[in-house]
Order: sequence, then structure tokens, then C-alpha cells
Amino acid sequence: MISVAEALATVLAEVHPVGTEQVHLGQACGRVLAAPVRADRDVPPFRNSAMDGFALRAADVTTAHARLRVVATIGAGDTGGPELTTGDAAAIMTGAVVPAGADSVVKVEDCERDGDTVVVAGPVTSGSHIREPGEDLRRGDVALEAPRLIRPADIGVAASVGVAVLAVQRRPIVAILATGDELVDLGRPLGPGQIANSNAYTLAAAVEEAGAVPRMLGIVADGLEATRKAFAEAFAADVVLSTGGVSMGTFDVVRRALADLGVEERFWKVAQKPGKPISFGMRGTVPVFGLPGNPVSSLVCFYLYVRPALRRMAGNPCLHLPVVRARLGADVRTAPGLTEFVRVALHSQGGRRVAVPTGSQSSGVLRSMSLCDGLMIAPPGEGSWGANSDVDVLDLAGPAVSEAPFEGR
Ligand code: AMP
Ligand code: MG
Repeated sequence: MISVAEALATVLAEVHPVGTEQVHLGQACGRVLAAPVRADRDVPPFRNSAMDGFALRAADVTTAHARLRVVATIGAGDTGGPELTTGDAAAIMTGAVVPAGADSVVKVEDCERDGDTVVVAGPVTSGSHIREPGEDLRRGDVALEAPRLIRPADIGVAASVGVAVLAVQRRPIVAILATGDELVDLGRPLGPGQIANSNAYTLAAAVEEAGAVPRMLGIVADGLEATRKAFAEAFAADVVLSTGGVSMGTFDVVRRALADLGVEERFWKVAQKPGKPISFGMRGTVPVFGLPGNPVSSLVCFYLYVRPALRRMAGNPCLHLPVVRARLGADVRTAPGLTEFVRVALHSQGGRRVAVPTGSQSSGVLRSMSLCDGLMIAPPGEGSWGANSDVDVLDLAGPAVSEAPFEGR
């Protein structure tokens, strides 16, 4: 059986960004920028006032309480006032064009208006409170570098240089199939022996969170024929995910159906718990993940292998969940010979992180997955962990990083 690190490396060796598309700024936040944005103009485009106040010539205010003539009032959006000559001032608003002849702005709090004159409190440093053209960006500058995850400020930067459409990485489309004769879709009553198809919804949400687009293809019966037919339709997507049917049971026909359809299996079974029976293969450029049916197994496998693959396909430079150190809040026993992932809640205690198991670690108990913040990584070879020992935890909510988490494990 291969290790978790080998399985992840195998998956990542097969997947590549799926391409780019153009989107309007309104749809671009959270996407990965695919091409740099250049400024086609200076930002700000003209010399303007940083304050509400009075534009003037600093040389006219060498002493306290200098009195100047107010010759104009200039608002933001005005084309600018008359040229100022010696002894002149113009009332000016934030963002308004600084009139020719003026070299400084004094804020309104430091002035006293008196009819058509203004008394300025003190000496003025030339250039104060003036924003020069190009102070933020110069025409020709790279305003946004690629690749980068687009954030709200980036949207504003693009808009400030007049760019309404951005080239972004296309989000991979992910077909999701749930196999199992026992499964019933939401909104229908459960008959004897039946359970709700929760995996498809879990995975669709996880796919979205990973920056890809889920396509739910419904429930597939456990027969070979039905399984082949359903998968054949799924290959139109960029990625195929299925759950169930990859284990040792009589009705676990997914791997056979995939082989019949030309999927080249790269691995089946990884030395891990939960999620050991995962299969992974390629059909042309389409990666196919046969995730186990147990709800926790399928989601843990998603976090370990599918999420980094989707992030790479979406052009994201950071693929991996971060590993954090934490002190164990209870004794833990893990499976020797496998890498075990223990569902833990992360608390902060006296400035230190404490990891507390969230209950039953059975691969069917999704509730302890729902309660957890991270997965403690218990490498093979160690089966017993005392409370207060320091452990590594995959932080499921942490910011993605570029280093793979399993090197040397
Ligand atoms: P399998 O891998 O097909 O043997 O399924 C393992 C366990 O996971 C069984 O108890 C299934 O009933 C359960 N299971 C399989 N698919 C789903 C699903 N889509 N949603 C919830 N549980 C499932
Ligand atoms: Mg099954």
C-alpha cells in the first residue's frame, strides 16, 4: 500500500490548470488572476487636494495669521479654478483639482474664513496636502501581479485604472456521483434499509469551497451496467468524484466499471485511516477519484487529495492545508501501520493551541467531523499519544500554503 505522501504526489503529478476565462469585476473576487493588470493611466490622474481647506502659495504664508484673498471655490469634479497669483487662495474640497499657481493646501481646521478673505494660522510647508498624479500608480505600471487570489482591494485597483474585465483561471467543473442501492435523495422518505445521500451534498460544498464548480449527477445503482453508464456521462467534466463502491464488497463495482471505460488506475488503497480504499486514476486529462462511501472517509480523502488537485487545476499557487502544532488535550490511540487522521477541535488555552478529539472516530460518524476544526496527523508506527504531547494538526480552516504537509511522514 502506498503512503499518504506518495498518493498526494501521484495525484499532483497528473493535474494542471484547466485554462483561463474573462470575467467582469463583479464576478472576479475570490478568483485567481491569470494575467497581470497594467495601469493605462496615472492614479490619481491629476494633482488634487487631500483635504478640505484652502489652496495657496506657501511663499505667501511665511508668518502666523497671514491674510489671503479667496478668489474661487473648487469642488471635487470641477475642472479647476483660476490660476492663483501672489496673495490668492481658493477654497478647495478633498479630491478637487489643485488650481495652477497653488503649491499647497492648508486644511480648513487651520484657517479662519473672513468674508472674501481667509486667515491662515501658521507657516505652510510647500507641497502639503497635495496628491501628485501617479502617486498611487504610474501609467504603464503593473497594478496587479498574476497569479494572485483576487481580493476586494484588487477589484478597486483594477477599477481605478479603468479595467472592467479580468483574465482569471477557469474553475474546474467537478462531476459528483454517489453510488449505492441504499441511497435516497433529499426530500424523499426513507424506506427500509435506506439512508440519505449525504456525501453528494458534502462534496459539492467542499468543491465550492476549494474554488471549483460542482455538478451533482445524482445517485447510481450498484450494478456494473448502471455504474458504467453514469460514469460515461461524467467524463464531460474536468474532474470526476464518486463515493462508495470501491471497497471489498460484492457490489463494489466502481473500479471495474472505470477500468471498462478506459480509466487508468494509478493507485487503489492508501495506508491511512479513515479513507483507506480510495482509488485514483486518469482518463485522458480527467482525474477520477473513487472516494470511499463512508461519509468521513470521503471527506477526509477530499481534503487530502481532491482539494489540492482542484486548487492546482484552478491555477492557485497555494494548494495545501496548513499544519499547526497543538498540545493534545486527551490520550489518543491510533492505528499502527497507517497514517491516522484524528478529528480534533482546536482551542486556545493560555496562548497555546490545544487539540481535543471530538468524539467517536468511526468513519461513519460525520458529527465528529462536523465538530472538528482540524485533523491530527498520527503517522504510522506510533499508536499511543499521551495527553499534553505535541502533535501536528491539519487546520481545515487555515489559509492555504504551498508546502505539502506530508513530506517525510
Ligand atoms: P461503500 O463504500 O459503498 O461500501 O459504503 C460504505 C458506507 O458508506 C456504507 O455504510 C454506505 O451506506 C455509506 N455511504 C455510501 N454512500 C453514501 C452517501 N452518498 N451518503 C451517505 N452515506 C453513504
Ligand atoms: Mg456501496
